[in-house]
Amino acid sequence: MPVNITAYKEIKSVLDEAHVTLVAVSKTKPVEDIQALYNEGQRDFGENYVQELVDKEAALPKDIRWHFIGHLQSNKVKYIAPFVHLIHGVDSESLLKEINRQAAKNNRIIDCLLQVHIATEETKFGFDGHELSNLKITQFENLKIKGLMGMASFSDDLVLVRNEFKKLKTIFDQFSIIHSQFSIISMGMSGDYKIAIEEGSNMVRIGSLLFGARNYNP
Ligand SMILES: *Cc1c(COP(=O)(O)O)cnc(C)c1O
Repeated sequence: MPVNITAYKEIKSVLDEAHVTLVAVSKTKPVEDIQALYNEGQRDFGENYVQELVDKEAALPKDIRWHFIGHLQSNKVKYIAPFVHLIHGVDSESLLKEINRQAAKNNRIIDCLLQVHIATEETKFGFDGHELSNLKITQFENLKIKGLMGMASFSDDLVLVRNEFKKLKTIFDQFSIIHSQFSIISMGMSGDYKIAIEEGSNMVRIGSLLFGARNYNP
């Protein structure tokens, strides 16, 4: 299925009006598809797999802002540290330490979001509210924690989904009082981004609405 430019333009105009950043999630999609959206002006792209991201970064224009949105393993941070724009899914202190170390090696500051576990499903990664408050987030010189990321349950129960987003927004607001560098709340995907925006998201990660369905099991 080709890139849906019409959908892109519609979504983009709604998001621009609401001051929400669109991360176009291009995992498993070919560089041609990314280039097609780039040609429409899109610059923020999200990927889930390190090797795929490294290959695409090498093949595509250098002014793309690459977001890593997958589950990042510590031993792979070094591959994306030279160029990654924002790492969304940071879910442990040891991963923070490794990102900080690799950022220092590359002489840069890497922006990160902490992933918060908001879904009722057991399988989603992330900190819970208690773990978050115990985390000393100012101790890293080469990384900047810019906010929070969360994934709602994959469910038809829209009340449940809305409540999970509400929970993340509440935690975000509490942390923003203490941490002035907090500015990004990344929540919302193809199926739930409208609810996420109503609940205060300012960054959404949208894949299949733009690039079509992915033909694999994520
Ligand atoms: C794949 C993925 C998305 C995009 O999902 P769609 O439903 O295709 O929009 C967003 N966020 C994360 C973390 C993902 O892994």
